[in-house]
Amino acid sequence: MFSCGKRREQRGEDLYTSVHAMAIRSTVVDMEPTKHVPLQRPQQQQRKHSVFDGEILKSELKSIGVKPLHVLTIWTYVLRHVDTEAHDVPGLPHAAVEMVKEKFSTLTSHVLTQQTSADGSTTKLLIRLQSGQSVEAVIMRHDAGAGKYAGGPRQGGPRATLCVSSQVGCQMGCTFCATGTMGLKGNLSAGEILEQLVHASRITPIRNIVFMGMGEPLNNYKSVVEAASAMTGRCFSLSPTHITISTVGVVPRILSLPNDLPGVNLAISLHAPTQELRSQIVPTSRAYPLHKLMAASIFYQKTSGRSVLVEYVMLAGINDSEEVAKELGELLKDQKVVVNLIPYNPITTSTFKPTSQEDCTHFQRILRENYGLRTTIRQEMGQDINSACGQLVVGQTPEPPASSLLHVVDIEELCKE
Ligand code: SF4
Repeated sequence: MFSCGKRREQRGEDLYTSVHAMAIRSTVVDMEPTKHVPLQRPQQQQRKHSVFDGEILKSELKSIGVKPLHVLTIWTYVLRHVDTEAHDVPGLPHAAVEMVKEKFSTLTSHVLTQQTSADGSTTKLLIRLQSGQSVEAVIMRHDAGAGKYAGGPRQGGPRATLCVSSQVGCQMGCTFCATGTMGLKGNLSAGEILEQLVHASRITPIRNIVFMGMGEPLNNYKSVVEAASAMTGRCFSLSPTHITISTVGVVPRILSLPNDLPGVNLAISLHAPTQELRSQIVPTSRAYPLHKLMAASIFYQKTSGRSVLVEYVMLAGINDSEEVAKELGELLKDQKVVVNLIPYNPITTSTFKPTSQEDCTHFQRILRENYGLRTTIRQEMGQDINSACGQLVVGQTPEPPASSLLHVVDIEELCKE
């Protein structure tokens, strides 16, 4: 899909961070951080499973003759008492206590640093996994009631979206994305994905989840499906419509998604309307060519009944001309999609340049007026975190966004039918 990442060396260990969503990335980087708060320290030496690796926990409980429903007993308790070890959960059958103590930990990851933007809208968590690798999760707070929508007042109040990582690194190699230069360093377990939500929920209530952090979620399909299913289950209780899975186009997994995760939103990082152009920007499109990706997207639209978010990073002189806008319009017209145009933020590992705001607006106007496509631009939406394909802005200080965060439209509004 579309992530971005950066690599840093810190304390002798590789530290990889990435955000799949370019918009998310820039949400984080565009603002002056106000604090770096070291949080919990790693406590365990021995590697254990996360208690939120529900399938493993179920299987282990079954193997000792304990009913798997005690997964819910454990989760319900530890979500209220995160500092409790899972084996201390009241009501846990005696036979389970030793097994859980030996094999599971309430949290296998810890928050290494917490950075909050100057205006308080965004908090970036750097999370250290027990492998020693790190990933980012980003909390984005929106005031849904601020600004206007379709000429009228917006509905709703403050709410928060969490961008989670699904892999350390990424093998997809998108040319505008720093993470793509890293290669794949590892898949996160379902528990490690869920722990990002647990950490974030200790800071603010989370209403929406976007799988737009580091990695291609559909390349870690089993863990992502398990984690997203748990998010909509009895303990985390999020609505499936508040979860968005983003992909650069892993076609077979797009086809299975409506069955495996009914009701969730799909975002596709498209970036080009022709196979020839797309293969220059997204190398994996050679394996999953555009016509197959479009067929999978239409299948998803029809099967799920939901719109697909189409993410489109605007690269000056590459994919932002009037002609390309018309090709994109022709490709997507009559489809149930929302197009999200994302101005590119330059990174040191790429020679791409950002499209001007004027050209972005012209591109948008063509899609809207000539093809009737619902189209948003990140600048117009403020720090529109929802959908972009990742790009890492390393070691630079971009200009602050022109628009106020008070005018943010979040993933929830983009996903409204
Ligand atoms: S290389 Fe592509 S798929 Fe992978 S994180 Fe970057 S943008 Fe997403």
